[in-house]
Amino acid sequence: MGIATGFLDTPRQENPFRAEGERLKDFEDLHIRRPPEARHAQASRCMNCGVPFCQSDFGCPLHNLIPEWNDLLCRGREREALERLLRTAPFPEFTGHVCPALCEKACNLEAEAVTNRDNELYLIETGFARGWMKPRVPAFRTGRRIAVAGSGPSGLAAADLLNRLGHQVTVFEKADRPGGLLMYGIPNMKLPKDIVERRIRLMEAEGIRFRLNTEADPELRREYDAVILCGGSRRPRPLNAEHADAPGVMFAVDYLTAATKSLLSGKAEVSAEGKHVVVVGGGDTGNDCVGTALRQGCASAAQLEMMPAPPAERGRNNPWPEWPRILRTDYGQMEAAFRQDGDPRIYETTVKRILTDGTGAVSGLETVRLHRTPEGRFEPVPGSERTMACGLLLIAAGFIGCEERTLERFALAADARGRLMPEDGSHHPGGNLFCAGDMRTGQSLVVRALADGRDAAREADAWLRRQD
Ligand SMILES: Cc1cc2nc3c(=O)[nH]c(=O)nc-3n(C[C@H](O)[C@H](O)[C@H](O)COP(=O)(O)OP(=O)(O)OC[C@H]3O[C@@H](n4cnc5c(N)ncnc54)[C@H](O)[C@@H]3O)c2cc1C
Ligand code: SF4
Repeated sequence: MGIATGFLDTPRQENPFRAEGERLKDFEDLHIRRPPEARHAQASRCMNCGVPFCQSDFGCPLHNLIPEWNDLLCRGREREALERLLRTAPFPEFTGHVCPALCEKACNLEAEAVTNRDNELYLIETGFARGWMKPRVPAFRTGRRIAVAGSGPSGLAAADLLNRLGHQVTVFEKADRPGGLLMYGIPNMKLPKDIVERRIRLMEAEGIRFRLNTEADPELRREYDAVILCGGSRRPRPLNAEHADAPGVMFAVDYLTAATKSLLSGKAEVSAEGKHVVVVGGGDTGNDCVGTALRQGCASAAQLEMMPAPPAERGRNNPWPEWPRILRTDYGQMEAAFRQDGDPRIYETTVKRILTDGTGAVSGLETVRLHRTPEGRFEPVPGSERTMACGLLLIAAGFIGCEERTLERFALAADARGRLMPEDGSHHPGGNLFCAGDMRTGQSLVVRALADGRDAAREADAWLRRQD
């Protein structure tokens, strides 16, 4: 620990958000970066605890060596700190932007936790800025060829580690750009797309091949020594209402993908401009839709959520160092409150009917309040129906599993939760086939997908060695 009283002398200070009025004018990064001295001071707050919960199973899924790199950072030894970080974290620039920082919620300082995520982002960006992030080409090649299907965080993490272990890796991606939800899903203001592209260029320079616009084919099992399926959990939960297929009704990821494509190509795809936007789903994906719609100039944005609002404080059944299940207000909800006065979330409410105009397109909604029966069922409250204007209805009601097409083509079956989860809990459904990420675990987090991709890579590598 660099400074024994750091956590007493220096208050926690996160990278602040740009002001709502400013950031709503563009799709640029939400945050302002703070200077190196601020990062050194923040790192000095790390107490090097006897039991660092931040890097335990309660905290960082990558088990990043947080106290070690905070100690080096607070002494101004950025390069060594970055090296220590990169031992466990394949892409700190992704987690530095989008990780909910499970480690900080498990920090012994609790609400005053060390700003690990911002420190991590500072280290990797310093590494890129100072030219330390050079391609690390393996000195030795095993002669083994591995195909990775899907270029989201799990596929990239698996490819990265397998390449470092000396295997020749080709990543197959059916989309036109690599990155999975890092590219098409998470909006640019949360994770700028040039950051994803910068990493892909580095991986290519390290010897990994990317085949875009290419769906993984079962033939790969014959052509490659091992195949790692990393296709994500991308089947959206549909809205059970008449006219759910009307023009103006979209799944959230399709809308967010179109928004990013517009930004990257300069050609307008779908836009919320001038429309009353309603998002079904009060979670993080819904929040990203609200933030995107506001930037596109929507007339209004609302989020409908079936569940009641979470509590303001932890419940007794949710103690530290667990992730706190409490009410959070994310950037899009803050921006909506700034623009239109008040939280856009409407709780315990769902869509009863989708109203359409003369052309058949969505024009409004009839909503109804819900109450939960003692048996846990949601039932409509009679007489609570309301109508609201809606020109764009975005469905962000969660995901129900991995895409059936890939499973069918590879003659695999999903479990009851729509996951490709081998019964023994491994990453090895059988033969030379492996799986990782949301496809295996269900929709989760970038940091968990990274950790799962690395675990699958280790299993595949061990299996290949046994074949020698
Ligand atoms: C809108 C949104 C915002 C999110 N924001 C955050 C956030 O802020 N922080 C966070 O931690 N997590 C966030 N998440 C969750 C996170 O993005 C996912 O958990 C993570 O991306 C999963 O990684 P993955 O590699 O398993 O799958 P994905 O990222 O879904 O990537 C799967 C890839 O596989 C490709 N693919 C599928 N089938 C095939 C095939 N047969 N052949 C070739 N390619 C194929 C797909 O095109 C896709 O590119 C968000 C999720 C969404 C939907
Ligand atoms: S990846 Fe996430 S949980 Fe892990 S150290 Fe970084 S911010 Fe914390």
